[in-house]
Amino acid sequence: MTSAVEPTIDVQTRLRYLEDQVARLERMVRVSRMLSSTLDLEPLLQRIINIATDLVGTEAASILLEDERTGGLYFAAATGSEREELRRIQVPIEGSIAGTIFRTGQPLIIQDVHRDPRHYRGVDQSTHFETRAILGVPMRFKGRCIGVLEAVNKLGNTPFTQDDIHILSTLASQAAVAIENARLVGALQEANARLAELDRLKSDFISIASHELRTPLSLILGYATFLKEQSTGAFQEQLEMVLKGALQLQGLIEAMVNLRYLEAGIARLELSDVILQELVEEVCAEWRPMAEAQGLHLRQRVPKKPVRVRADRAKIALVLSNLLNNAVKFTPPGGRIEVTIRPQTGMVALSVADTGIGIPRDELDRIFDRFYQVESHLTRHHGGMGLGLSIAKGLVELHQGRIWAESVEGRGSRFTFTLPVSWEEAVQAREGK
Ligand code: ADP
Repeated sequence: MTSAVEPTIDVQTRLRYLEDQVARLERMVRVSRMLSSTLDLEPLLQRIINIATDLVGTEAASILLEDERTGGLYFAAATGSEREELRRIQVPIEGSIAGTIFRTGQPLIIQDVHRDPRHYRGVDQSTHFETRAILGVPMRFKGRCIGVLEAVNKLGNTPFTQDDIHILSTLASQAAVAIENARLVGALQEANARLAELDRLKSDFISIASHELRTPLSLILGYATFLKEQSTGAFQEQLEMVLKGALQLQGLIEAMVNLRYLEAGIARLELSDVILQELVEEVCAEWRPMAEAQGLHLRQRVPKKPVRVRADRAKIALVLSNLLNNAVKFTPPGGRIEVTIRPQTGMVALSVADTGIGIPRDELDRIFDRFYQVESHLTRHHGGMGLGLSIAKGLVELHQGRIWAESVEGRGSRFTFTLPVSWEEAVQAREGK
């Protein structure tokens, strides 16, 4: 007789059990989504303990994380407590409940903490809460234990079960991933803030240095020029050296001032009609003696018909000059440097190509960043501050043009920039008028 009834009960119990499991899985999916949507560590920890009390059905919960400085654990969050107070509570790995869980990597149920000598009462005192029973599970990330999640006092004073261990362990492993993500984001934000601060300091330094150095330098230049004209022989040669050094310094300071103007957005263009062949000829004439002294062959490849653009003559000369400076610096003796002008539709492209040391492919974008140099400051053989290309980029973009580099390491580099033939049209196009 009973055999006909029993299977029905069995099926119903099983069905209820399955429904429970599905509901639990759904809850875990929701929890997982909730956890991964918070990247702020403090609110995240609070959220985890709220979820833990909810899922396991306890009065409270807490999270202890490893303190990498002391090697112990600290309370990172607990129900109903102030974070600052908790931070001060350090829990040793040896001789404590959480420490045991952390060390062994195994869950632990203590149904009556008063009978366990490992129970630490400090937290109860600071949270004005009485702990009676604890279920603790390890929080693991990539095989490493990062802390312990504890659920405290099961509601209705019932004992913790295997099911509770399972639920809390699942939550702990999801929480560990979320905590590590939040920590990584926090560390990244901190690093970014430090970088922004360094950037600000560099900018401040540039503006102070360029301003403060200019006046004494013009005095040195003035007097050295005067004295050189008045003197003869070896004395004149020595003064020539002083002048050369001072002019080099002036070049560096000018670069800093230019950069400051570009960065502050106060650089202005003085537009005029420029015939590019004349400009290229002029800048090449400046660099030819230096190039030839280094055994380099510098030549121009330009169209016969004059190519006119509307541009700031001095600024485009500076762009070309910076590119030629690099070509001369980074090309070994016997190499070739070629400057070309190529008219295209609506714009004109100017290139400086060399047969020099070249630039690694993955550095090609970064060389336009200010202060960026492929070779580090400490090991480099070439002079310079890593500002030439960033200034060139700023000046070209001020003209609504574009600048880029192509290079094969060990074979040479080509730097190209474009200028619109009608500058006003380019501005309008860019502003979408
Ligand atoms: P600087 O020349 O003062 O270091 P730049 O901003 O002009 O600064 O250039 C940045 C870096 O780009 C250089 O330090 C160098 O590593 C690389 N570079 C620029 N031009 C060339 C070139 N023609 N050949 C090889 N490397 C170059």
